[in-house]
Amino acid sequence: NRVPLIAGNWKMNLDHLQSIAFVQKLAWSLKDARHDFNAVEVAVFPPFTDLRSVQTLVSADKLPIVYGAQDVSEHASGAFTGEIAAPFLAKLDCSYVIIGHSERRTLHGESDENVAAKTKAAIASGVVPLICVGETADDLEKHGASAVPVAQLAAVLDSIPKGSDFVVAYEPVWAIGSGQAATPEQAEQVCAALRSTISEQLGEEAAAATRILYGGSVKADNIAGFMRQPNIDGALVGGASLDVEGFSAIARYQ
Ligand code: 13P
Repeated sequence: NRVPLIAGNWKMNLDHLQSIAFVQKLAWSLKDARHDFNAVEVAVFPPFTDLRSVQTLVSADKLPIVYGAQDVSEHASGAFTGEIAAPFLAKLDCSYVIIGHSERRTLHGESDENVAAKTKAAIASGVVPLICVGETADDLEKHGASAVPVAQLAAVLDSIPKGSDFVVAYEPVWAIGSGQAATPEQAEQVCAALRSTISEQLGEEAAAATRILYGGSVKADNIAGFMRQPNIDGALVGGASLDVEGFSAIARYQ
């Protein structure tokens, strides 16, 4: 009974004007194809500067597309130049916020402690965290596929109050932007291990309710294989989410 989530992480692409045109076209494309938004949730994650425009469009046209931000501050307010607080995202009706994306972890030095604090901040403001975990090629060689993502998730689960909604995205770093996705079987194995970790730390009910996504070179031609896996509840799509028709096809698993 987990509603699948197809999420588009735009990264640092599309300005606020482009975001309006994109979301409008995406809604048209999905409606044209008679997409059932209750059966498969569709979310976009634009840059911060686009969020107000997306909010205005989505609320004015009552579009069934949800959206979120790509990062959030650990702090609620104060002297943190350049940071964006979770209450600001809540005010913009963000449903979700991506936390701990591998690009934040590697390019901006975010630790498991930062990820935990950001997760706490998001939940406190009513924004659902979409927590990213994943191993590098080096980790994969040294420790196998599951060890690092499981450890990254275990480090954040303590900060999640029982009963809170959260989403996990398994994104092997070696598969991001490389054109080389994990196989559905590889991804399923790690996602199953992640679900067991949730079960151990937060209980079976939380494990059964939590959506776990796969991310890393997801395209229209490989989405179906991932969606057939019992422990994969959607995808976090980067490059292929920047093309309206392509992303629309992925949301329909076509
Ligand atoms: P690609 O789909 O471009 O590989 O990116 C995946 C990703 O990092 C989504 O967050």
